[in-house]
Amino acid sequence: MLVALAGCEGVVPESTTEMISATAEAVAGQAAEVAEQAIAEVEEHTAGETHAVHWAYEGEGGPENWDELGYPDCAGATQSPINLASATGADLENIQFAYGDAAVKMLNNGHTIQVDQIEGSQVVIGGETYFLKQFHFHSPSEHTLNGGAFPIEMHLVHKTADESKAAVVGVFIREGAENAALASVWAHLPAEESPYVLDEHGEKVYTPQDTGESISLAALLPAEALFFRYEGSLTTPPCTSGILWSVLQMPIEMSAEQIAQFTRIMEGNNRPLQDLNARTLQVDETP
Ligand SMILES: [Zn+2]
Repeated sequence: MLVALAGCEGVVPESTTEMISATAEAVAGQAAEVAEQAIAEVEEHTAGETHAVHWAYEGEGGPENWDELGYPDCAGATQSPINLASATGADLENIQFAYGDAAVKMLNNGHTIQVDQIEGSQVVIGGETYFLKQFHFHSPSEHTLNGGAFPIEMHLVHKTADESKAAVVGVFIREGAENAALASVWAHLPAEESPYVLDEHGEKVYTPQDTGESISLAALLPAEALFFRYEGSLTTPPCTSGILWSVLQMPIEMSAEQIAQFTRIMEGNNRPLQDLNARTLQVDETP
């Protein structure tokens, strides 16, 4: 399985480090204290130590050991993904999507396949504007709906302008009609790990491949945007918490062949379900 065999692709994604740094500069008080602690953890991770075991989705580097591999946040109480069930109904403000067209620049980092370096698209959630940075895929889905998994889950990753806050929109993909909106992406799924350079910490920094194609991002979304809302985390190390999650209730579709094209390259890149603990899972009940 390619996912499990992939090497350590950077202990802390560059963007996360930037996000945490930005947080420290931008906020004061308790938040800054938390951010400083996070930076200290990041520096510890990237200080050049060599992990004997790299994180993966199975085996010694598997999810149950991520915290012991140098990612303590992965053992936190507000982690993702979760099972979406028994949600509290609420009249939540609709997510305002302002999605345009984007160049399709793709990478395979051994843990997922990602359309990267997206510019010019954004969402507004709770009065805050978050810019779409990238989207990527997990198979099978990471979140489950009433205990059931979907063949694929898409994660649209957004950050505020100062990168201090992140909001991820999850979209389930079920088997059905061919997905024309994703055709330009699926035509260029990188089967092998993408080219990378090592940064000053010895971590891999991937260069996305520009396919020369574009994608209409609005066409990716389902007709109905009702969603589940909760506060969670990145689903990969370093499992940073404080991520605003919105998982859309209505799945989009993809043909069996399109699903197979993905799973032939990557399957099993889903973190096991995490406990909800003291969190509230809300479901938007008003269109
Ligand atoms: Zn993801």
